[in-house]
Amino acid sequence: MDKNNTDIYVQLLKDRGLRVTPQRLQILKYLNIHKNHPDVTTIFTALRKENPALSKTTIYNTLEALAEHGLVQVLTITPTENRFDAGDRMHHHFLCKHCNKIYDIEIECPHLNRMLEGEFKVDEVHGYFKGSCPSCLKENAKNDHIQNKNIKGLKKDTSKC
Ligand SMILES: [Zn+2]
Ligand SMILES: [Zn+2]
Repeated sequence: MDKNNTDIYVQLLKDRGLRVTPQRLQILKYLNIHKNHPDVTTIFTALRKENPALSKTTIYNTLEALAEHGLVQVLTITPTENRFDAGDRMHHHFLCKHCNKIYDIEIECPHLNRMLEGEFKVDEVHGYFKGSCPSCLKENAKNDHIQNKNIKGLKKDTSKC
């Protein structure tokens, strides 16, 4: 899939019976290329460079319409803002509490499907995980090491007194 090719987004919209508008195409393309789960402000800032007439309300409305048709995923993983993702495949998310980055987590949940089978029709499954990401853990370990060294150094000094 050539993510820069506008035709694929035109087709996605047409397949769902949605009107093809420049804003819809712009947002679809943006989210399919930028997989860093941006918030509305980030999307707005980026797209306004190409289209100065664009308003934040238009972005909101467009995201909502695309989400309703499964072309965009709305992530409510952070308590303060919605984050957005392309709706091309279902996956789960991990929020790092230190750097606020959202990572994709690819795990299947077979028990859930078995449990719901026959009784419910599931359209979306969102798994939200929160904790510390590998790079923040590494950073912390480094800081702890430095801190321990300082403490040891201090102890040494005090023992001298
Ligand atoms: Zn992190
Ligand atoms: Zn994602």
